[in-house]
Amino acid sequence: MGRRITILGSTGSIGNNSLEVIESLGPEYEVVGLAARSRWQQLLEQAHRFRPRAIAIGDATLIECVGARLNGTIDLLAGPEALVDLVRQGDCDFVISAIVGSAGLPATLAAAELGKDIGLASKEVLVVAGCLVVPLARRRGARLLPIDSEHSAIFQAMHAGKPEEVVKVYLTASGGPFREWSGEQMAQARLEDALRHPTWKMGPKITIDSATMMNKALEIVEAKWLFGLEPEAIEVLVHPESIVHSMVEFCDGSVIAQLGTPDMRTPIQYALTFPRRVRGPSRRLDLTSIRRMHFEPPDLDRFPALRLGYEVARLGGTAGAVLNGANEAAVQAFREGRIPFGQIVELTEDVLRRHSVIEEPDLDGLLAADAWARNEVAGCLMR
Ligand code: NAD
Ligand code: MG
Repeated sequence: MGRRITILGSTGSIGNNSLEVIESLGPEYEVVGLAARSRWQQLLEQAHRFRPRAIAIGDATLIECVGARLNGTIDLLAGPEALVDLVRQGDCDFVISAIVGSAGLPATLAAAELGKDIGLASKEVLVVAGCLVVPLARRRGARLLPIDSEHSAIFQAMHAGKPEEVVKVYLTASGGPFREWSGEQMAQARLEDALRHPTWKMGPKITIDSATMMNKALEIVEAKWLFGLEPEAIEVLVHPESIVHSMVEFCDGSVIAQLGTPDMRTPIQYALTFPRRVRGPSRRLDLTSIRRMHFEPPDLDRFPALRLGYEVARLGGTAGAVLNGANEAAVQAFREGRIPFGQIVELTEDVLRRHSVIEEPDLDGLLAADAWARNEVAGCLMR
């Protein structure tokens, strides 16, 4: 079964890995749409190589620059709405949602509305709007196929039993670059320290989220939505080697894990070929060279973001939109040198504390909560 694929965020880390996988899968897997924000040269190179029907550039000021270099066989869309228009193209049947942050939400919702299968890398989409995306996808027959490595592992392990037989999910975490740093050291960590992830090579935002462990907090909420889990049934387990990508415990005491090298091409390929498996380009696992694997409970005092993840998973409503919006704004402020590392989670938590959660919000309610949270962070920065 082939696929006609649109990649939202094609110039990013997931986007580039996706293109490698698609290339190795052969001609049945065709790229029909590519979208990026501003890296237009790379987008053009990808367009010339993969010959999609259309490309979209999020930054509308680049339309002429890109248009002048296309020869007319590829349509060009530009601006924030371009992503939704790209997804609506009739010939696309699989959307890889890999835009960093909540910016990919409208286009992911459009894909679900049209019943297109979605390879979901952008966990922020579910953290902000899982309450809309998941039921909509179900109603419209769109499958949500996880690309996040832990969620792909859980998805694969879940096939060993029935949903009602699941007792617990172990969500593994590398612990990030500061796993062994003290709270005081971490408070003053530099940007280059936070960007030095021990096991995964990823875009800057998720790498910083891994350093605060907010990434795992977002993944708790993501797991709740993808698998219909109660927050209490999700246990975070620090596993520095990043070989066991997550595990599912069943009622008979069996624990089923998925293992592999830390290589995002494995979960990306599985989302694309599901339910089949085919040979792929991922690095192979050699346990004799790894020899030892470690597991330890997370330190909630040094990584308070994790508590926020559980809290938001319990609260539901607009809490996820606020957590995500505040975190995105705080991470950006850290990247711009405006706040120290230690303040990313502090600021995010403050904003969450000031929010009155609205239960069962609609899309406008979620977007308003997201905007409010970003605005609150901006307000704190002015003080
Ligand atoms: P990245 O920073 O490398 O790439 C982000 C992509 O999004 C780029 O192509 C960029 O052009 C595009 N983009 C951003 N804002 C946009 C906008 N407004 N309009 C159009 N395009 C826009 O990020 P990444 O590491 O590839 O991560 C992407 C998503 O996948 C994130 O949600 C991340 O949490 C998730 N994820 C990534 C990894 C990984 O290994 N990189 C693993 C698991 C999950
Ligand atoms: Mg992950």
